[in-house]
Amino acid sequence: MSVANLKSDHVDRILTKALSGERLTLEDGIALYESNDLVKLGAAAKQVMQRLHPDNIVTFVVNRNINYTNVCDTYCRFCAFYRPEGHPEAYVLSDEIIFQKIQETIDIGGEGSEILMQGGTHPGLPFSYYTDLLKKIKERFNITMHSFSAAEIWKMVAVSGLSLEEVIRQLKEAGLDSIPGGGAEILDDRIRLKISKLKESWVKWMEVHDTAHRLGMHTTATMVIGFGEGYEERILHMIRVREQQDKTGGFTAFIPWTYQPDNTALKGKRATAVEYLKTVAIARLMLDNINNIQASWVTMGPKIGQASLEFGCNDMGSTMIEENVVSAAGATHSMTKQDLIRLIRDAGRTPARRNTYYKILETY
Ligand code: SF4
Repeated sequence: MSVANLKSDHVDRILTKALSGERLTLEDGIALYESNDLVKLGAAAKQVMQRLHPDNIVTFVVNRNINYTNVCDTYCRFCAFYRPEGHPEAYVLSDEIIFQKIQETIDIGGEGSEILMQGGTHPGLPFSYYTDLLKKIKERFNITMHSFSAAEIWKMVAVSGLSLEEVIRQLKEAGLDSIPGGGAEILDDRIRLKISKLKESWVKWMEVHDTAHRLGMHTTATMVIGFGEGYEERILHMIRVREQQDKTGGFTAFIPWTYQPDNTALKGKRATAVEYLKTVAIARLMLDNINNIQASWVTMGPKIGQASLEFGCNDMGSTMIEENVVSAAGATHSMTKQDLIRLIRDAGRTPARRNTYYKILETY
């Protein structure tokens, strides 16, 4: 038997294992990445997804990203969004502008349900800035605050002198509902040191999510590929998320996307569609305890986003009324709600609007 046939048999055995509900190992995940049979990986991932979501529904949320500040002292080499304090383009949005953006989100047919507020790690903002802002937002609006990623939360710990648990507790009391998974990039320190050496270690990223879960909050987990990481690092990332999910069950979704190199210090090349779709499929097969895998049409474009529904995704993310972070690095795709609905329908699935917790609000 040829080497190619032996490899193909090996991949078949791994896929059979995944389809029978057996957990995949690090070695299994690496073998799947080494396989060139994208269609076979996609078919298995879709089968696993259909078992979890037999209703044929693909969800999306109507939300808005608000980047309240671009001031950041973490200086990630892959980031084209941040500006150092004092830079002529540095900004902190006024409360009024933030309120206006939230009102506009709610006004979209009364369907906007979530604000994803994220910024840089601003060294000059006191902890009370965040808690006061959340309270003011909650006094004025009925909206879910899915906001502040791990790096910002560690900055709040640093400026306040409080413990991580106390910071998250106070954010929750002030109105924070859920924490986005931004800043995970690759959950392994070799690559983190290369791309953002001032950012917290992967263990500290996880500590934020573990603490939030234990305090009763849901969070999401993300993964960014294309920094020059190896297959082993990608699979370790997935296994670390899976282990955390075993402990707390607090992740609502896993959201992989690709590094956008334009205007960044790191530079490099965009991951290809094959790399992305393979990652989506492998994530669905490795992450047997996470219900929702989100497509990233914002970085991959609507067509690859739609194709990812054949590779295990069951969610199209958001209508993304505003996005400033990946667009600064060259991802400039945009879609209306009607475009999203059409893409989902054309893929033979039923579109549905959801809330932050993946509860279906309306089907179309
Ligand atoms: S990715 Fe986030 S933490 Fe890193 S430089 Fe950009 S804004 Fe700052």
